[in-house]
Amino acid sequence: MGPWSSWSHSLENEPLQWRIRDDSQNSNLSIYNLLEVDDIVFFKVSLKHSKKFSKNGIFGVGKVKRKFHDSKSRFWPDEKAENKVQYPHRFEMEPLMIVDSDKDLLPWINGLPFTKGLNHIVQTNLLKSLIASCNKKWKLNLTYTPPEFPFEINGFYDKEEIRKKLKISPYGGIRISKAGFIGLFSNAVETRKINDKFQNIYHDYVDPKTNLIHYTGQGQEDDQQLTVGNLALYNAKKDLKPIHYFRQYEVGGNHEYLGTVKVVKTTNEIQNDSKGNERNVFVFWLKLTSIQKIIDESSSQREEDFEFISARKQNKTSEEIDAEIHELNEQITKLGPKKGKTAQRKEKFEKKRNLKMVTKMKLRFKEKCQVCEIPHFETENSYYCEVHHLIPWSISHDDTIENLVVVCPTCHKKFDQAKDEIKISMFELLCKNYPKIHFKSPSYIIQKKE
Ligand SMILES: [Zn+2]
Repeated sequence: MGPWSSWSHSLENEPLQWRIRDDSQNSNLSIYNLLEVDDIVFFKVSLKHSKKFSKNGIFGVGKVKRKFHDSKSRFWPDEKAENKVQYPHRFEMEPLMIVDSDKDLLPWINGLPFTKGLNHIVQTNLLKSLIASCNKKWKLNLTYTPPEFPFEINGFYDKEEIRKKLKISPYGGIRISKAGFIGLFSNAVETRKINDKFQNIYHDYVDPKTNLIHYTGQGQEDDQQLTVGNLALYNAKKDLKPIHYFRQYEVGGNHEYLGTVKVVKTTNEIQNDSKGNERNVFVFWLKLTSIQKIIDESSSQREEDFEFISARKQNKTSEEIDAEIHELNEQITKLGPKKGKTAQRKEKFEKKRNLKMVTKMKLRFKEKCQVCEIPHFETENSYYCEVHHLIPWSISHDDTIENLVVVCPTCHKKFDQAKDEIKISMFELLCKNYPKIHFKSPSYIIQKKE
């Protein structure tokens, strides 16, 4: 949407192009960043300055052909006048239809965004009506394919992956995406107090009577306000914004994608804030709208099941899993244990278990116990097995393949509680079964050698 002077200049100087000012304050730029080649752009003149049209409507439509930055050529009248490039973010379009008179305009649809510059039509129903009207009146053949959501329901994902694919950060609970949806995150509760404040204070839970998710709004201290994220969630239904829900079960663990939810009701509650003072909060009661249910079983087992199923889907061979483990093992050997932030923006770090490695190891040695070679029993989706650290995690912080053993529950208990003689023979059996792995020597082996 722009003044006729800009449109006519662009129409007279082919190829048809549009431009964005280099101004980070400008929401135009963030929409420009979402723009891709082959996207469809509708053209509108701002009526205020228009001598061209007297009715409110859309005068053309085009397809994005090229997106580029140009900080050298002065194209627009004001750039030429000042001899300075002001709009370096540009794109060219192939016009599909451009009309000249009021009677040929596509009538304006109430609800379409109309900020000066680039707008993103995120409301599916409006977009569909606009396309239908365009195809009917202008005899075009535009189609709308809703973007596919890049995560699988009940899949577990690393926060970096979520951040990259959705272009929103999983820190903080309620995230509004520029692509028109809300990302909702329940993070694992951290009960420790740091700098006199409780960390991750929200205990989001599923109410057993109603099966609704009890989700506390945004704001760690004092009374919560119906602004930003809370307001977006409150208005999500009216705004037709889909809400995608992710849940983390343990600190440092992956988030499970649970599909879309809707806000059934919003209530108020008194809860303690991060300093321990009572205050008013908003509670959003969420209903899962996708088919799955939150299953009440160990999340790590589900995470392993997911890895197992997706590896099977991708037809991963044990050689490929071996290669992945090898690569991860090199990283861990080089970098040591993962360090997770104990709290946002705090200097303190704590060492974290490498859950990815544990999961991959279980996947690799899923069939039989690495020590006694008894086959692991099958669960609904994969196999049940446990992981033992030869040198205990608390001492070694070591998640390398040389320190991890995938075992049956009996061998696991034996490693923990059997007398040294038995442990030594188990360790010897392990080394015999896997001669290529240089297992770390636990204390009972070192004592034996001494
Ligand atoms: Zn065993």
